[in-house]
Amino acid sequence: MADVQTVQGPVDSEELGLTLVHEHVRFRDEAVFDQWPGRYDEQLELDAALAAVNAAKEHGVRTIVDPTAMFAGRDVRFMRTVAEQTGVRIVACTGIYSYGYLPHYFENRDVDVIADHFVEDLEIGVQGTDIRAAFLKCAADAAGVTENVEKIHRAVARASLQTGAPIMAHSMPAVATGPRQVEIFEQEGVDPAKIQIAHCGDTDDVAYIEALIDRGVYVGLDRYGLEMYLPIDRRNATAAELLRRGHAERLMISQDFCATIDWFPAEAAELFEADGSIRNWSMTLVFDEVVPALREQGAMDDEAFQTVFVENPKRWLTA
Ligand SMILES: [Zn+2]
Repeated sequence: MADVQTVQGPVDSEELGLTLVHEHVRFRDEAVFDQWPGRYDEQLELDAALAAVNAAKEHGVRTIVDPTAMFAGRDVRFMRTVAEQTGVRIVACTGIYSYGYLPHYFENRDVDVIADHFVEDLEIGVQGTDIRAAFLKCAADAAGVTENVEKIHRAVARASLQTGAPIMAHSMPAVATGPRQVEIFEQEGVDPAKIQIAHCGDTDDVAYIEALIDRGVYVGLDRYGLEMYLPIDRRNATAAELLRRGHAERLMISQDFCATIDWFPAEAAELFEADGSIRNWSMTLVFDEVVPALREQGAMDDEAFQTVFVENPKRWLTA
């Protein structure tokens, strides 16, 4: 079987094992960190990452796919430290996480030049290391597929064509970005089997999700615990229905958990728990609550579990 790049080097894809396909060991704005590093407690960040990953490991997780790209504070050395200290593999990405903004540097360069940056990360190494990215990341959110977002998507697609690397695209079902994102990738000639549309589980519109699946892509039901977008019961009802309709081979289940995130002041986490915006958000929620609930409803048996948490991530990473 094909090798997959991890932050500790390539591994045989058969070794990936139980995989969480969308989690962040740290999420922060690299520009703010670069200018005011004293505002960050790196030991606290590392401790939180180790605690989260070790908790997942207790449930048998062997590999974490971490789609932290540019503007989310990607740091492959930090990822490697977490992988070394936990024994859990981490798979890193390249790409740009932006809902519209692009630095002048990229605004004034064309799509192929942006793609070259991604190819360098995939084929040579990231941030001056020999750690190679394994997949590409881009995003579309409330503003939809803006001009800059489209430019990033096309650069991601062209880097995928050059290298064979798969793509994960953050999407926003509330404004139906998914179909347009798939369309751009298709126009560029990307095989749908390489495409994962993340955050589809933020809607319980099964027809919307099924229409994406019908185009041959993977869909992420990957924000369990983020109740502000959709509560767990409705996420589970959607997952159960998609499983009943025979779509196990297209589903990615994860939590989009961030061991630490700098988007909000420290006290916000408690407030979000208190007002129900998040609930039990962690790297283990899918094992603590989701899988048991799906099993109880008769929607997920051992085979479907294996398909979703082992086979699908492996098949997508090696497509
Ligand atoms: Zn994410």
